[in-house]
Amino acid sequence: MKRLLSEVYLHLIAGVIALGIFGISAHTLWMDRQNTWQEAEKASRNILTTIAHDLDGNLELLDLSLKGAMEGLRHLGSQQLPTDLQYRMMFDRSASASFMGTLLLVDQAGNLLADAGPVIAPRSLNVADREYFTVHKENSHIGLYVSRPFASRAWHGDLGIGISRRLLDSAGNFAGVVMGSMPLATINHLFDNLSLGQQGAINLFRNDGILLTRFPYDESLINQDLGGSPHVQSLLQAKSGTFDSVSPIDGIRRIISFQRLDKYPLVLTVALSVDEIFSAWQRKALILGLATLALCCAVVGLTILFQRELRRRTRAETKLRRIARTDDLTGLPNRRAFRETFEREWRQAIRSGSALSLLFVDADYFKSFNDRYGHGRGDEVLCAIASTLDGNIRRPRDIATRYGGEEFAVVLPETDWAGARLLAETIRQTIAAMGIAHEGSPYQTVTASIGIASAQPSRASERSVLLEAADQALYRAKAAGRNCVRSSEDDALMEHKALPHAAA
Ligand code: GH3
Ligand code: MG
Ligand code: MG
Repeated sequence: MKRLLSEVYLHLIAGVIALGIFGISAHTLWMDRQNTWQEAEKASRNILTTIAHDLDGNLELLDLSLKGAMEGLRHLGSQQLPTDLQYRMMFDRSASASFMGTLLLVDQAGNLLADAGPVIAPRSLNVADREYFTVHKENSHIGLYVSRPFASRAWHGDLGIGISRRLLDSAGNFAGVVMGSMPLATINHLFDNLSLGQQGAINLFRNDGILLTRFPYDESLINQDLGGSPHVQSLLQAKSGTFDSVSPIDGIRRIISFQRLDKYPLVLTVALSVDEIFSAWQRKALILGLATLALCCAVVGLTILFQRELRRRTRAETKLRRIARTDDLTGLPNRRAFRETFEREWRQAIRSGSALSLLFVDADYFKSFNDRYGHGRGDEVLCAIASTLDGNIRRPRDIATRYGGEEFAVVLPETDWAGARLLAETIRQTIAAMGIAHEGSPYQTVTASIGIASAQPSRASERSVLLEAADQALYRAKAAGRNCVRSSEDDALMEHKALPHAAA
């Protein structure tokens, strides 16, 4: 029971340690993961802010060029100036927008009035079919319009977007359109040299979900209307934010930060691959996980070793205790065991109110047996007497012990005087019946004398009195000629019987 309890404690402590190690590792990893996520969010927002700022600046310059051209056109009015002067008035400001593709002025029918392209030579062009033209023709309130990407006739078919404004005549009617275009290559250039990892992506949407350009660049995706995708819809609705989602384009899960540009109907997104963000963390998690596992295994292993050692010691202690309570020669419990048993049974008898008997058994004329037959033979006889005693006690709590030398003590719990006497007589007869020759004894065989003491122990009585009584009874058996049984009760009876005789 005690061993079981200590093993339970051992397992409990080992469990707590293992759980503790596991808990600390899990907590550390979890915090680290949160941290990694936050860092990635911050990184993507930083990239976003940088690009948005650059793009804003470029568009601002382009818009200034549009406004400059509109103003120039207004001043020009109906004046007839030389062509190069007309150009100067209209397109002076465009010089600062170095990234600009073309800048066109078209009349209400879509015919080219003037353009600030690379060639100054007049050319004829009609853009009545272009989106940036029709939208202003049909709506008066649009202001600045950003077109879908289109292949410019001026730059050998490369894609670009146009921003356009409506021209009004003096009466406030539609008088045409001014449009400045920006090649996608110019925008894409802003995306170079950003640390986005292998699977990072940048998207530039118009606020209706048309994809204007993207990094990594893929022409087949440009100009697609992704406004229907819930993924894109969620980012078109807010001003800015961060979320994670699986891309409808390539199926990769990314952390996506998005931001609507302040003055333009454009939405920028920067997306970093979740796998890439966590790849370092995953390696760390693997290492820490394995280390934790190893530590937990070590704890379990040590516990098992400790448990084995504990069991080995317990076994060794039990064995030692048994050895310490056993007589070497006869294998019977020794005097120490007798004392422990006697004290225990005495207390038990007090509690249960039952009788307790004691036999002192002593071999007769044993000194002379040793002298005559040798000490070795004497030992054999002691062993034979021990087996006789052990063989005659029947109840589980009866115990025969070697008290010392050629003297034995038998403890008989819950046994009264009469019972003890019967058993003592049987033992005496069995020893004599072994018929071991002993020429030094008047009986010619090995015999033993037995003293009996019985008591009904109470709190008031003394243990030593019973021991004393058994010893006295043995002494009287010796005095009565040996090979007989005596007890304190015998003497009481004898005195009782003697009295009437004396009176007669
Ligand atoms: P009594 O009938 O009065 O008991 O005489 P006794 O000779 O038996 O008693 P005594 O006390 O004079 O001597 C006891 C002897 O028991 C002395 C010793 O040689 C012998 N003896 C005691 N222990 C052992 C033992 O372990 N082995 C052997 N062989 N003899 C022992
Ligand atoms: Mg003796
Ligand atoms: Mg003796």
